[in-house]
Amino acid sequence: MRTSLFPPLVRNVIYPIYRGLRGDRLLTVLDELERNQWLSPGELHELQWRSMESFLRQITTHSPYYRDLFEESGLRVEDIQNPTDFQKIPFLTKDTIQETKSRIVTKDPMRRGYPTSTGGSTGEPLYFYRDVAAGPIRRANTLRCYRWAGVDIGDAQAVLWGFRLEKPLKERLGEAVRNYFNNIMCLSTFGMSERVMHGYARRLRRYQPSLLIGYPSALALFANFCKRRFTTGIHPRAVVTSGESLFPHQREVIEEVFACPVFDRYGNREFSTIAHECEEHRGLHVCNDLFSVEIIHESGRPARSGEVGEIVITDLSNLYMPSLRYRTGDLAIPTERRCPCGRGLPLLDRVEGRAFDTIQTPNGKSVGGFFWTWLSREVPGIKQFQIEQRERSGVIFKIVPGPAWKDGATKHLEKKIKENCGDSFRVNFIIVDRIPLTPTGKFKFIVSNIEERLIVKSKIHKAHVTNEAPGKVDCIVVDEELMERSNLAPGEKILIVDNTNGARIETFVVACERGSGNIITCGATTQYVHTGDEISIMAFTWSDESSGRFSNILVDEDNKFVRYLTDTAGERL
Ligand SMILES: [Zn+2]
Repeated sequence: MRTSLFPPLVRNVIYPIYRGLRGDRLLTVLDELERNQWLSPGELHELQWRSMESFLRQITTHSPYYRDLFEESGLRVEDIQNPTDFQKIPFLTKDTIQETKSRIVTKDPMRRGYPTSTGGSTGEPLYFYRDVAAGPIRRANTLRCYRWAGVDIGDAQAVLWGFRLEKPLKERLGEAVRNYFNNIMCLSTFGMSERVMHGYARRLRRYQPSLLIGYPSALALFANFCKRRFTTGIHPRAVVTSGESLFPHQREVIEEVFACPVFDRYGNREFSTIAHECEEHRGLHVCNDLFSVEIIHESGRPARSGEVGEIVITDLSNLYMPSLRYRTGDLAIPTERRCPCGRGLPLLDRVEGRAFDTIQTPNGKSVGGFFWTWLSREVPGIKQFQIEQRERSGVIFKIVPGPAWKDGATKHLEKKIKENCGDSFRVNFIIVDRIPLTPTGKFKFIVSNIEERLIVKSKIHKAHVTNEAPGKVDCIVVDEELMERSNLAPGEKILIVDNTNGARIETFVVACERGSGNIITCGATTQYVHTGDEISIMAFTWSDESSGRFSNILVDEDNKFVRYLTDTAGERL
């Protein structure tokens, strides 16, 4: 148990000496960034554009990937004079990074980099290189944003983050020393049980951090714990949330319990802080003196003020592994509104659609995205994964295996999951070739359908098969009128129950002439369901309600509509 060092001592003595020993320009950069934020939007744009020109020249000279990209696209750096020209440059995707990483990395012998991996929001670990020279710039930017929250260098911070606990001793010691002299206390979000949170509360009361930083889900969980247990005496000046979407109910409970404002931050492992709320809380200021942040509408054009789009980033200070128009997969809404604080940095109305959903356990715990991404990196050979939850008692863990995958690895995964989610938590592993995108083209690595169940929505009761066509593609052809009345769509998956012989067949449905009364089985279905058989045709849907619209129709001997039997699923028959 320890208390924090005297903040002015850290701020004015220890920190400047530490930075001096490292020989970097962090404090000079911080002054520069402080000045930048008060420039007008026009001046900031000009500043960004000057950095952009030099960035483009450097990367097309030293990175084989970008040199080829410009050549193949018929682009020249001197032709890129404004944002419209800039949009001609193709996007950089996570797939491209996976495939051509070594060609993206600069061949400039003066540049140094170091690798870092990120779970991102795609469920696919991505290995990135950070530019050593950009380190102080990134840190200075984070400090600038902390100042918006009223917190400065040396003020004690407590960080509630997904820290790995099993690290080599040497690494742990180095971190402990660094954190001690920087006034930082690290608390891991893994396994935050009541007992652990009780310990955290005690440590925080003694440490009294000026700033609490963490995932919104973890901070809200902890705030709720404090509220329930009447734990008082933790008085930070500000809370910064990051790493997940911040929901209003989370902000509310955190602000209520710690009696201080919450500042939301958007950032990631690749770029650190990209956008941050100021003291006015009117949205997130984009640090566009260091990044070009575009919000691209799904139609491909820039999103207008108030429209949702994907965040596309160019990090102007990473010249080791340059990311030019990098698609993050995260969504945000830009706004033309100016912030009353007077800073010229543009605003995002909010960041939304971060894929960090949570998984619920039977004992009421919610397990955030970070645990699952961390877990996926624990085991070698997981190329991509998706966690799907349909009921509280467990999840379906889909894995796209890479070359290093071993079948026995699921045992290790299961053990880790049970440790975190409880022994009764069930995990069903499925190895798949690919994980499809959502209908809107997004990738969700956590799919929570917890309140949903498959319920019947359509039924054609007591129909008769009029014909069979064994040579055709396997399906069932149905009079279009009956399909409409029973709410079946062409191509929809259906279940045929043959009342004559008890067969149950799954296939899909195709429409035929309206009013014809035709019901024709085709392909393999004809082996079980024959002309003259009495059948019922049913279709189901996922729903979060136990009852819903149910189009259940009765037909006569000639497959003519007679009447609706019921129109609500779940109704007593
Ligand atoms: Zn502001």
